[in-house]
Amino acid sequence: MHSWPRPHLPSLPGHGDIPVIYDVGAGEALPSARHNQSVAAIYVCGITPYDATHLGHAATYIAFDVLVRAWLDAGREVVYAQCVTDVDDPLLERANATGVDWRSLAERETDVYRADMHALGVIPPNHFVGVTEIVPEIADAGAALEHAGLAYRLSAPDGGTDLYADLAADPQFGTVSRLSAEAMRDLFGERGGDPDRPGKRGPLDPMLWRARRAGEPWWDSPLGQGRPGWHVECAVIAARHLGVPFDVQGGGMDLLFPHHEMSTSHLRGLTQSACPVAVRAHTGLIGLHGEKMSKSRGNLVLVSELVAGGVDPAAIRLALMAGNYRRDRDWAPELLATAQRRLAAWRAALPPERPGSVVCGPPSGGPGAEDGGGGAGRDRGVGADNVGAPGTDRAQRDTVEHIRRALALDLDTPAAIAAVDGFVESRGRDATPAPLVSDAIEALLGIALDH
Ligand code: ZN
Repeated sequence: MHSWPRPHLPSLPGHGDIPVIYDVGAGEALPSARHNQSVAAIYVCGITPYDATHLGHAATYIAFDVLVRAWLDAGREVVYAQCVTDVDDPLLERANATGVDWRSLAERETDVYRADMHALGVIPPNHFVGVTEIVPEIADAGAALEHAGLAYRLSAPDGGTDLYADLAADPQFGTVSRLSAEAMRDLFGERGGDPDRPGKRGPLDPMLWRARRAGEPWWDSPLGQGRPGWHVECAVIAARHLGVPFDVQGGGMDLLFPHHEMSTSHLRGLTQSACPVAVRAHTGLIGLHGEKMSKSRGNLVLVSELVAGGVDPAAIRLALMAGNYRRDRDWAPELLATAQRRLAAWRAALPPERPGSVVCGPPSGGPGAEDGGGGAGRDRGVGADNVGAPGTDRAQRDTVEHIRRALALDLDTPAAIAAVDGFVESRGRDATPAPLVSDAIEALLGIALDH
């Protein structure tokens, strides 16, 4: 399906480093992209479109957007795939409860999500894939796992058979999340699993294909009429669009188990790769007044509602980046107010360049015209040849390097923001353009200052 427009992305002189990011299973920060590869590939689990984008979603997609921006700044080509789980139990339940057709609900909420991501300056994935677009491929994957002896069938209540993955056939199961058997069973039950269903070989075995149930959507397939299970969707989309191994699988911490554990297991089964994903990265949850933000508690803060209320989406982004992406953290009005003040201070201190005030440099193609950027945008030409030109001073270059170093250390956006704050404070009343810092803020942090 279509995604959303790509934001403007200035290129910067030189290159940042490939960030290290924390992997729960490894228990340490790992290089987020493999050496000697020109392409960095990432899969981030997308939304189930039954309600609008809340701040927890926004924080997750912004965190991985910062990683994508750091990769681009490091000179990597990026391939990014993201799913939309546009047929699933919670979506169908919401559609039934509100009397809305499930397809219309999914389309409406996916549209809101696209608008929210665009407003927040998130670079769109190259492959934005609805599950309903690839049902035959998912069914084929289930059939392949069954053929390989990695899955088994159980009779379904309304006829036909459900297909389950046989986790006992995967000796590496559990290495993604490193949880105890009790914790896995508890979380599996809480997060859409059916550990107590009679007849399953193992309580944690996840469903790959759900046979047609009365009143539910279904598709014809070699596995019979039905619809896909949850975890296998992401395995199929990642394998198809990224191939294996790929660099990062990302999502909120609540996806660590069972979702990422299961989808990685399915990837191993489907691709015969022992290590289909190099790094699993997880974002902390966003709470409100000390409680997890969730639909059931009715305490969701929606991006679209904040924006409709006149809040600048760049301030929302800045507020969410003011905390470490891996920590659970609280949303509060003061957090937004601080971000709004900071954004105003940055914009006042870093005004856009006025047309006609461009610093004259060597003619195009002449000495000093070569740049280290190589991206889609125009390089500012700030290099050794331009030292001394207004707005291209040492402090600007130092600030950019501080931002780069902060992001390279597990996406430390609070430190990157502090570097910009320091630069802004150090300028005092100087409000001449500082294009290198302005471009770095836009390219690396996703905050456009010129509107
Ligand atoms: Zn997923």
